[in-house]
Order: sequence, then C-alpha cells, then structure tokens
Amino acid sequence: MTCDTDWSWPQIATLNLIMRKRVDWSLLRSGWTIPVDIHERLVDENDGVELQPKDKRHVVLLVDGHPFDAMLTCIRRPQGPPHILQIRYDTNQELRQVLEATFWTSRKYLQLERERLRRELGPNAKLYAEVPPHFAEFVEWRATGIPFYYHVDLVPCRFRASDIVKQTLANLGEPHIEAILAEESENRFAYWVAAIERITPEDNAEVARALRYCRRYLGLAQRLLGQMYGHTCQLCGRQAQYSAGSMVNTTHHIDPVTTSMDNRISNLVLVCPTHHAMLHAHNFTFDRTSLSFASPKMCVLKIAMDKHLGS
Ligand SMILES: [Zn+2]
Ligand SMILES: [Zn+2]
Repeated sequence: MTCDTDWSWPQIATLNLIMRKRVDWSLLRSGWTIPVDIHERLVDENDGVELQPKDKRHVVLLVDGHPFDAMLTCIRRPQGPPHILQIRYDTNQELRQVLEATFWTSRKYLQLERERLRRELGPNAKLYAEVPPHFAEFVEWRATGIPFYYHVDLVPCRFRASDIVKQTLANLGEPHIEAILAEESENRFAYWVAAIERITPEDNAEVARALRYCRRYLGLAQRLLGQMYGHTCQLCGRQAQYSAGSMVNTTHHIDPVTTSMDNRISNLVLVCPTHHAMLHAHNFTFDRTSLSFASPKMCVLKIAMDKHLGS
C-alpha cells in the first residue's frame, strides 16, 4: 500500500484528554516531551503546582486500571523559559514491556527502520524514524482529577489477542462485533461489553480488553476515513445519512476484525449501511488486486472511489 498524502489524524477530544501522542521510539523506551502549549493545562491539572528546572515529581500512570510509577521532570532550556517538561519511565521495566507488547506494530517497524538507517548512516548517526500515518499508533493521556495521577489509554492499530478470545468474538458474529466497536455512546458500549462478559466466563477480562482497545483505534480510523471521503460510501458514492445528529460512518473490515483484530485503515472500507448489510448477508470477500467484492451468488461490487487501498 502506498501513502503519498499527508494524512493527519483527526483531532478528536475524548473525555479529559490532555494530549494524544503518536508512538515513537522514545515513547516505547523512556517517555515523552510535553508540548509547550499544554504546560498551562498541566499546571491546572496538578492543582497549580508548577515545576522549576531540576524539579522532579513522582507521578502515577494508570494503564488499564494498573498503576505504573513515572516521573514528571523539568529541564532548563538554555535560551530560557518555557523549560522542557517530560514524562519519564526509563527505569520502569514493567511499563516499557507493556508498551512494547501492545504497540508491537510500531515497535517492529521502528526496529527495522533503525537497523536500516544504522547500516546506511553508520554506528554513530542520530537515528530518526517515524511510523507512517496509515498505521500510526497512539497513547491518550487523560486527567483523573487527582494531581499527578493520570490515565494513559493505549491505542494500538492491531490488538494481539489469544486464540480463545478470537474464537469467542468470532462465535458472536462479525457484524455484531463490528456494530459494538462502532458504538459511539460510552454507556451503550459498556452495556454491550458487560453483556458479552456475562456469557464468556473464561477470559472475559481479556475479551473486554480486546473490545476496548479495538474500539479506540477504530473510532479514530473511522473518522479519518469519513473526512477523507466526505462521508461517502466507497461502493455507491452515496453520502451517508445523518442519524441522531451525527453522520452514519460505517466501516467494514476486509479481514474480519474478530480474527485479525486489525483496525488499520488498510483493512477498512467506508460503506453505507445498505452496502454494509449486503456485504455480510451474502458473504462477500474482497480482492485487493481488482479492488472489488465478490460473492458466490451475487454480482461483483467494484470500489467506485478509492484513496487509501490501491497499490
Ligand atoms: Zn462489516
Ligand atoms: Zn453504498
């Protein structure tokens, strides 16, 4: 897949969001630098406490409800304030392992890219590699209301689930799971997750986690595709209808999400609800070469408009 457009990810504010940070090498290894325009907001969140150069504060990062220790540090900028603020967890091996395991797509890409650059530029060169936008992953840093306590939501493009989890979700049906992942209301989503947890006594925490993680990324990917195509179905070119105040943004997974857990836009097609229902009712499969869906009984449906799937 090629990517020659500069696709910027839509800025969607979720509850108490301080910032959405794209996963890069330093985020996987040591932490992140806080942009200057967020400094003031952070002081607010921390009950007015403003760090001065050389100050360090212990902070807690809640990842999936699990607390991880980190530091908020302030480093003097040679040319004067505003100084550099960073969240750092260099020595927190456990957190680094969670980040590396969750963001395995970014980690693999960055590792290969860094090896290539090292071969090309020599052992002492400064290596700068960035994950391409079409599978960029994120952490969402959110306030808890308690100073120096923050939520950190991980937003991986492909969730690594066990076979039991995949089987459980596949048994519930691909269209059903896709609809739950596309659910915009937090309450209704929580209701669905609880319902699924009740019928999956084993590994239900893992099933709920897979659903949460997939929904976070899909929510971003869906809005990105909505913007790219002006909320128009890629099959019929019809604009989606408004429903309860928002555009109907339906995405269909080319490789089923229940087994691939892949929410990268390269695995998504933006379709109208009618075409989405049709694709599932007649078991259409997608051919990436001809960019068309084919069903054993039905006609071939060719993609009418494409900006992100073609090679
Ligand atoms: Zn679908
Ligand atoms: Zn359509």
